[in-house]
Amino acid sequence: MSGADGYSVLFEPVQIGPVTARNRFYQVPHCNGMGHLRPQAEAAMRAMKAEGGWAVVSNQETEIHPTSDLSPFAENRLWDERDIPALRLMTEAVHGKGSLAAIELAHNGHHAQNHLSRAPLLAPSELALQTAYPKQARAMDKADIREFRKWHRAAARRSREAGFDIVYVYAGHHMTLPHHFLLPQFNDRTDEYGGSLENRVRLTRELLEETKEEVGDDCAIALRFAVDEMLGADGMQAQEEGRAVVELLAELPDLWDVNVADWSNDSATTRFEPRDGFQTSYIEFVKQVTSKPVVGVGRLTSPDLMASLVRKGILDFIGAARPSIADPFLPNKIKEGRIEEIRECIGCNICVSSDSLGVPIRCTQNPTMGEEWRRKWHPEFIERRGKEKTALVVGSGPAGLECAMQLARRGYEVTLAEAKQELGGRVLQESGLTGLSAWKRVTDHRIYDLRQRGNVQLFTDSLLSATEVVELAIPNVFVATGAKWRRDGRGKSGFHGVSISAGAQVFTPDDIMSGTLPGSGPVLVYDDEQAYLGGVLADHLARAGHEVVFVTPASMVSPFTELTLEQTRVQRSLLEGGVQLVLSHTLDNVAPGQATVRCAYTGQEQTKECGSVVLVTQRARETNLYDELRSLANNPLTTLELIGDAANPGLIADAVYSGHMAARNFEREAGEIDREFFRRELVSLELV
Ligand code: ADP
Ligand code: SF4
Repeated sequence: MSGADGYSVLFEPVQIGPVTARNRFYQVPHCNGMGHLRPQAEAAMRAMKAEGGWAVVSNQETEIHPTSDLSPFAENRLWDERDIPALRLMTEAVHGKGSLAAIELAHNGHHAQNHLSRAPLLAPSELALQTAYPKQARAMDKADIREFRKWHRAAARRSREAGFDIVYVYAGHHMTLPHHFLLPQFNDRTDEYGGSLENRVRLTRELLEETKEEVGDDCAIALRFAVDEMLGADGMQAQEEGRAVVELLAELPDLWDVNVADWSNDSATTRFEPRDGFQTSYIEFVKQVTSKPVVGVGRLTSPDLMASLVRKGILDFIGAARPSIADPFLPNKIKEGRIEEIRECIGCNICVSSDSLGVPIRCTQNPTMGEEWRRKWHPEFIERRGKEKTALVVGSGPAGLECAMQLARRGYEVTLAEAKQELGGRVLQESGLTGLSAWKRVTDHRIYDLRQRGNVQLFTDSLLSATEVVELAIPNVFVATGAKWRRDGRGKSGFHGVSISAGAQVFTPDDIMSGTLPGSGPVLVYDDEQAYLGGVLADHLARAGHEVVFVTPASMVSPFTELTLEQTRVQRSLLEGGVQLVLSHTLDNVAPGQATVRCAYTGQEQTKECGSVVLVTQRARETNLYDELRSLANNPLTTLELIGDAANPGLIADAVYSGHMAARNFEREAGEIDREFFRRELVSLELV
């Protein structure tokens, strides 16, 4: 069976304790950088998931007490009853769209830092914070454990009052006390909460029993549990203690939400874990052990895979965080047989980066994510065009493609011109590098959409000059001509660039991505940008058989990738690929056969022999066409707008967002746009 009928199994209702989910689509808890600081934004974002067909919509980890204060991160908060109204915004919004709302109660033990509350840190054993801050958690005594259980019970009661249908006990991601008690690497207690597995699981069992006792008649009780730490014999393994935990607690929760730890494994990027459904082999045993419904994740975007996971008895619910962020309407699209329209997650973790920065969530594939409340952007609906009828978009990178697609959806006659033979701009280039092939989904989705439309003309091999643009006689022009990597080394550490002698072999990332391969001798990759591309290029060149020397002023490889949970893997990959790392060094000059690098702290110089150098420093905006059009005498254009990397070089997510914004705002009144831009949640001066 295929097509929408073949997926009917996904739309069966499922009972979870005292509540019923209308289908099998379950948005598991995920962070979003909104939380207690931006509750209206969070409510609107979660409601969009409900509207898109997710039968269960969860919030994110919710601090139950000031001893679990995750500041400066903007998670949810339920320290006392004063936090209930903000959470109720979400439950009412989700119920309004016909879905169940779930709350992930969390006490984060020594994973919380308590920077705001300055409360003591609590843990099963004496444990140091894992960040560089010199603070330690104290081992909880019996009175502490009793207190903690009371806080959890009270938070469950408040959750019901806030309107939640499902209440979580959270033992996962190495992030919470129940998980810390479960794992020997955090728990060396000798009392009844330490030692044997029965003892280590005691706290989780007590929390499940007490939560059930407190709210179990009205709310379902879910257990989020990491069955495997992906550390082999050094950690909990699905077939060993992971399974034993499920056996010990099998029928206690109303729902098992199972995954792998830590967060970087659970939310693995496609760069390091390209398989959809990559967690299945770890979690497939769970349903054999419990009669309760099971939800699992693994970047599930294929409806065929989803249906087979249910039919094979592996999952009852299709869990998703990232696929629901990239496409909040994924369930409805499957239901309506609009499979080709699904915006598939590319597994880049830019969504995670916003949580890591404490700002509202954003997504490379879905530019409306995080803007549901502030700008009232809806992922599926966009205002019809005004009095203008036609638009020209120049450049088919992520900004140009998104802009053209949204303009076409608004009803304009759209012409898209691209200088190269293929559409896609930087996405096409970057997705050709090792580990980034899934990123091509950004352009695939948009090109597919544009090709379906009768009001779009696509031209490749069409490098447009200002004169040609004017000759086209399309009065509204969006210039998305992108940016090129600089060849002079100007960047963060070198405002005046790098000194390059005649005859030196110097390449840019654009050269490498276009297929130019450096000649003989070691290749020195100089990563002054310190984001992701330098590390990707070093990996790519090493795998292509080059001897690679990686030089960066940073004290680690690709520090930006800490925000996407990848940094450890990136550095490991380079080391395992034989790349020589020269950290904390700037590049001073390049001559034929050698380069001089300088310690970023002492200034001490070293010479590195190399056949060529790849400079990953900064990009230069391509604005010639825009500048010429702007300076035309008797300019015939009604609209001329520079968008994407040509306006501000940044992430692919930024380019998509810029293209989307330009299309949305076209023909809107400027004052209205300004008011929207500054719409924000103000701090209440009410004293509580
Ligand atoms: P962005 O990330 O902003 O979308 P990209 O660098 O990915 O930008 O894409 C810009 C695209 O614009 C490239 O594919 C490039 O070939 C194309 N382009 C640049 N100048 C012109 C031009 N004058 N006419 C047509 N296409 C152009
Ligand atoms: Fe997926 Fe990237 Fe969007 Fe996150 S930001 S949901 S990983 S496409």
